Amino acid sequence: MLSASPLPTQTSKRHKSVIAKTITILGSTGSVGCSTIDLIERNRDLYKVVALTANRNVAALAAQARKLKVELAVVADETCKADLEDALRGTGIEVAAGQSGLIEAANREAQWVMAAIVGAAGLAPTLAAVRRGAEIALANKECLVCAGDYFMQEVARHKATLLPVDSEHNAIFQVLERQHPEQIEKIILTASGGPFREKTTEFMEKATPEQAVAHPKWDMGAKISVDSATLMNKGLELIEAYHLFPVDVEQLDVVVHPESIVHSMVDYKDGSVLAQLGSPDMRIPIAYMLAWPHRMATPVPRLSLTEIGSLTFEAPDYKRFPALALAREAMRMGGVMPTILNAANEIAVEAFLNRRIGFSDIARNVEAALTTLRRDFPQNGAQSAADLAAIEEIDHLARKNAAEWVQKHAS
Ligand code: NDP
Repeated sequence: MLSASPLPTQTSKRHKSVIAKTITILGSTGSVGCSTIDLIERNRDLYKVVALTANRNVAALAAQARKLKVELAVVADETCKADLEDALRGTGIEVAAGQSGLIEAANREAQWVMAAIVGAAGLAPTLAAVRRGAEIALANKECLVCAGDYFMQEVARHKATLLPVDSEHNAIFQVLERQHPEQIEKIILTASGGPFREKTTEFMEKATPEQAVAHPKWDMGAKISVDSATLMNKGLELIEAYHLFPVDVEQLDVVVHPESIVHSMVDYKDGSVLAQLGSPDMRIPIAYMLAWPHRMATPVPRLSLTEIGSLTFEAPDYKRFPALALAREAMRMGGVMPTILNAANEIAVEAFLNRRIGFSDIARNVEAALTTLRRDFPQNGAQSAADLAAIEEIDHLARKNAAEWVQKHAS
């Protein structure tokens, strides 16, 4: 009897797929990290967690490490190491700290690595996991923004597998006909529009950190929440998509979709548009990548389109949200410009969260860094970001420039 069938049999419908994986989570105490652990805890027989990392949140990290009985727990901030050792004494769990500790966690023999450290701080540890050919569930978009060409070269060289976790890129990953890139007309990223979608420029000038992080649809860490309010997040995602998918800069579009149900779309040349829909809950894209190439059950509320009633779409307003225009421009220029954009944005967001500069100053600071540093890089520094050390140097330069801007403009 022929056994190969493209359709599920009754037997395969009843049985769970075998998807056992060993796992490391870089940034386990954050929003994405905690959602990943939530899914793993519901499937403890399928996943073995090897290593976890955090920055300073010792209490949460120690609790996760004990619960999941991991081999290694790492704090990036070396001053927290003694506290972590105290919290894990008697458990047999190894403790490490600092950059070398993060790299050690990434190097542990885990098949699947969740890259969920926020910001460019995630680049070196994620690259370490790439270089041993692991499956990388990539939440940290800043890796691809600040080092896209180099990062993708390393992925190819070490035969690592990139699994996009960001909900928009995950949606595209689900509907993209990878074998036939010539059939793609456009990739359309959807944006919720953030908390200030309907606010005036005058309102945003005075907006507080509390207002900026109050995202209407997604529950996320502070940095990405502010990026969503400025729409810089969508700009970073354009650059991320440019590196992940086989399209040119001009084939990438953004459409504002406040309900956050359609998570992105691929427009094919025959006029078909394929989209992925779901409730705005990061456990859906994380689950897709955890179970990949299968699917797993999640506790996420089912989508009821009849309850939602209508889905709306509008064009982004590049005037009110200049950060999106800056990111698009940096993507077009290429070279070191996205590295500068990302570094200046990280400094500016931190300064805004610390109430040193205003909300609208974030884009001003980024624009100043791009304008000033562009002069130092003929042809946008196309040859200047050839390895990690060179990228880190440019990142450092841009941070210094942005910090000086903050110093000058702090209220
Ligand atoms: P959070 O701020 O919630 O968590 C960040 C994690 O990184 C924490 O574990 C934090 O540790 C750790 N961390 C912070 N700074 C450092 C550092 N300097 N060195 C090492 N570790 C550090 O972020 P999110 O989970 O919201 O986002 C993580 C990444 O995923 C970001 O790149 C974001 O853009 C991306 N992403 C997030 C989504 C979301 O829904 N949250 C959606 C799509 C993408 P500690 O707790 O100790 O501070």
